[in-house]
Amino acid sequence: MYGVVTRNADEVEWEQFGRGFYEVKDVTGRAAQPLTNAVNMISCFGDTAAANSDPQLVPVDDAGNRATRDQRYFDWAYICPTHQKYQTGLLEIISDSAEANPAVRLDDVGFPREGYCRCERCTRLFETSDHEDWPAWRADIITEFVEEAVKLIPGRSYLTLYPDPYPSHLYERAGLDLDALSELIDEFVIPLYDIHYATTYWLEALINGFQTRFADSTVSLAVELYAVEVDIDNLVQATNVAEVYADGVYFGYDASNAAAALRRKHADNQSGETYGPWHIPHSVTTAKNRCCSSKGNLRIWTGYWWIPTRAVEPSDLAVFRENVYELPPGHAPRRSLSNWLPNRYSLSG
Ligand SMILES: [Zn+2]
Repeated sequence: MYGVVTRNADEVEWEQFGRGFYEVKDVTGRAAQPLTNAVNMISCFGDTAAANSDPQLVPVDDAGNRATRDQRYFDWAYICPTHQKYQTGLLEIISDSAEANPAVRLDDVGFPREGYCRCERCTRLFETSDHEDWPAWRADIITEFVEEAVKLIPGRSYLTLYPDPYPSHLYERAGLDLDALSELIDEFVIPLYDIHYATTYWLEALINGFQTRFADSTVSLAVELYAVEVDIDNLVQATNVAEVYADGVYFGYDASNAAAALRRKHADNQSGETYGPWHIPHSVTTAKNRCCSSKGNLRIWTGYWWIPTRAVEPSDLAVFRENVYELPPGHAPRRSLSNWLPNRYSLSG
């Protein structure tokens, strides 16, 4: 599944994209009317305009540092997740979005960083709570907010994650209890932004880390790539890497460039995408079944096709033959595998 992330309403239905995400409220605080033909996106606790208009909304750490753009760590201002009036307004925006379109995406969910928030209200709420453990209290605040939000979302729910798959980092940083959230949310979207994608090994490593993290969960994983002025061949390559692991690949903020990359990718596939010695048509690389396992250098998509994770060598043939030729009944390949094997590699040999 390919999608676009945009602030332009007319881009959400371009034919190249199966899914359009539309920013209803972004981190600057800019607001727009939800669309009926898009997954509306809401920046939850990132809102520079709200923070500027009411300093009481801004989280502080125990040294009194406010989570605003003046601090070196923050690119936008944050809002304290326990501010009741702000949260009520936020849930209203989510509700309005869900009325326009049943699928909704929640962005910027969580506390700004380790050590936040120590505002008067948070201190009081923690002290009067049943919790003795402050990180656990923080995580409960966020989980409860997401619970309230998804009650308002009748369709598919998305939540954006900061791209750090290291165990416990998101819990410590933002108060995200990923196990609890993965029970509530249908799909996590992981933005892996670069302005070049001249190398892609780090994409592979990060997505693989998230996939391992959620191996026992039914939650879907999608990757969001930055499309603005990225070289098209590099964007195609980044997409090829991302889609080996992710259920969806979404392109941020340059629909034209993203559409061009998908056209190029499609054309490449039509003319024969080559991994090592084997020619693999597009139908093979778009396996939809999440049920997969790794065998050597191949990812085997049970009952479907297979995707190579690197150039395939003749020595991989045994793995290929063993796993793809022994499909369960009812899952016979639609086309003979030999269609895209060069003659010199015989499957029956
Ligand atoms: Zn607070």
